[in-house]
Amino acid sequence: MVSIGLRIFVNEIECYNKLIKKIHKLRGDLKMEKVNIKYEVYFCICGRVHFVDSEKLNDAIVNEKEILIVCNNCGNSFVEGADKEEYNGEEGYMMYSRSMRDTEINDTSKIDNIVFTPGEKVRMMTGGEATSYVGNTFIDWETKKPDNITLKEWEKMRETVDIERTINWISDDNKLSNMSNYVTGIDWKGTKFEKAWS
Ligand SMILES: [Zn+2]
Repeated sequence: MVSIGLRIFVNEIECYNKLIKKIHKLRGDLKMEKVNIKYEVYFCICGRVHFVDSEKLNDAIVNEKEILIVCNNCGNSFVEGADKEEYNGEEGYMMYSRSMRDTEINDTSKIDNIVFTPGEKVRMMTGGEATSYVGNTFIDWETKKPDNITLKEWEKMRETVDIERTINWISDDNKLSNMSNYVTGIDWKGTKFEKAWS
């Protein structure tokens, strides 16, 4: 059993061992603190969407710690934390996210929790699910094209989110409402999560 002074949230230790091989360095994405949200939302390269309890993250941040989020589907993992900053004369936090890769393990002393999450599936017009998410596009690379559909039609279908099925699948207004705050190439029009700016 590996012990580096971390609390592990789920009993999937083999995933943790895999993670040790994958820990890596700063991705450098910076975003401003968000308030009054229940979930932090992360869009994984494997097409899954991860929802992490904001409170868990906030607790870590106020204690000057970080949390490590690990995708059970693809092993992608990233560290979330925040630096205290002054902003317009008020103290606040600038959140950062850095992803971990290969065998590099940076300083883990700040990591407070590890959250293993399979993530939610994003349903596609192919009838299948997204298997990748790159450049604001979810794509289903796995479902086979039926013979009666042209390649051109299929290409469109495999890159189009089936919003109704996705909403039914995730089936949590709080998650969906947070998820729809991001520009991800998902068309929320006509749903109750549609944003005025979209
Ligand atoms: Zn993933």
